[in-house]
Amino acid sequence: MLSQKRGRTARWIRILGHGIGWGLPGSTNSYANSYTIRATENANRFPAIQYAAASEPGDLGTQASRLLMCFVARGVLSRRDACVPNDPVATALGSDTMEGDQYSLAKQELRRQVVIIGSGPAGLTAAIYTGRANLGPLLIDAPSDAEKQTTPGGQLMITTEVENYPGFSQGVQGPDLMVEFRKQAERFGTEFLEEWITHVDLSERPFTLVTDDSIIKAETLIIASGASAKWLGVPGEAKTPKGFGGNGVSACATCDGPLPAFRNKRLVVVGGGDTAMEEATFLTRYAARVYVVHRRDKLRASKIMQEKAFRNEKIEFIWDAEVAGILGTQEHGVTGVRIRNTVDEEHFTLDCEGVFIAIGHKPNTDLFKGQIEMDEVGYIKTSHRTTATNIPGVFACGDVQDSVYRQAVTAAGTGCMSALDAERFLDHLPVAMPTGEEVTIEGEHISPDHLKIIRANGEVVMNEPEVAFAEEK
Ligand code: NAP
Repeated sequence: MLSQKRGRTARWIRILGHGIGWGLPGSTNSYANSYTIRATENANRFPAIQYAAASEPGDLGTQASRLLMCFVARGVLSRRDACVPNDPVATALGSDTMEGDQYSLAKQELRRQVVIIGSGPAGLTAAIYTGRANLGPLLIDAPSDAEKQTTPGGQLMITTEVENYPGFSQGVQGPDLMVEFRKQAERFGTEFLEEWITHVDLSERPFTLVTDDSIIKAETLIIASGASAKWLGVPGEAKTPKGFGGNGVSACATCDGPLPAFRNKRLVVVGGGDTAMEEATFLTRYAARVYVVHRRDKLRASKIMQEKAFRNEKIEFIWDAEVAGILGTQEHGVTGVRIRNTVDEEHFTLDCEGVFIAIGHKPNTDLFKGQIEMDEVGYIKTSHRTTATNIPGVFACGDVQDSVYRQAVTAAGTGCMSALDAERFLDHLPVAMPTGEEVTIEGEHISPDHLKIIRANGEVVMNEPEVAFAEEK
């Protein structure tokens, strides 16, 4: 028994010898080394350290104590997990000398196999799948905040009727659909935590998420924090009853365009990018006329999308023009827009019954900046075959990684993929990364051509199972 305890302690000291100043954020290679160490000696070893530190005084105990403090200071262990009653280590750890408020004793510490950020269709689908897989997902949700424009449930909570979500032949109200998603996730044991995440550390696994009240340690993380439509910020645009949002003003033509309120009506689309061209073209299926209002005399959209819009007889372009305000009444909804010419500053009113704002989306990724690979706009980069990001164990799904499709059903689909990817990773199976490599939880890298396996210790072996099998025979 004693030798077993000594063996465990010694193993941890050996890990310290490998270097605790491991992996730099954003550096896949050095990161892989670090998490390999942690993956092979991870959470279920923590009780062994406690025991060793408490019951083996002298040199070994002292080394273990230092090691424990080092882990606590880095946030790998909580003080609570590292401490044992009446132990000098406990006393040391209990002092307030540790850096950083995020590791304060006042916060509860939660450890989970799967943590999901975001409660839209992507996050809740990931929760349903990981819940059914007995992984006990914890889903963290931003609290509702009108100023910050956050609503648990995501963008469908500010939509009215959803006609294109499969399975609802008569359509469904966006908020009702999200209530059902949530109930289904609850049914399979999802825990919900409604708190603002103030800090994340993805440089080592388990990943650390800090909120005002909690420190969360996640073996795998599924980012489903979505994207927010950009708004003009002009009078009349706010959500009804303050303005006409949801009552003639929308940021999603695919969601709202086919609704009766917009059929055979004059509609305005604001913007000059691909989204604006796509939405304008789509809306011509239902509308009597579509006016594209763009602030310059040149479009940003790709040539092919521009040409398609130019060829469409129902679309009319209003150049060098900004929407200065949206007009209407609560009873009738939108009746027109006030336009300002950006060249001569002239104002005029354009009569219309609907306004679609298509000036881009902002992925909700500020929290992860500098820690995970993103494109120039801020969308998280994922593998084309999986939802893996450049950080093994971190997956992204839904609008936070999709600037093209952005539908509830595609978000739900990628949420399912993320759950299966996380399950796979936790089951020690390889997951395809954006580089084309496959990576396991042990830190093995399989080359994109599948010819080589690079073990966590750097050893390279050929991936030739058939040959090996033949030789064995
Ligand atoms: P985007 O390319 O950033 O275009 C935004 C447009 O809105 C620009 O024309 C911009 O004007 C205008 N705009 C921005 N802020 C404005 C404001 N405050 N007032 C008035 N106008 C404003 O955004 P996007 O069109 O959503 O496209 C985002 C990405 O998704 C792009 O990479 C796009 O190619 C991709 N996408 C692809 C597809 C597809 O392939 N089917 C479909 C949709 C989107 P300026 O031009 O003057 O800056």
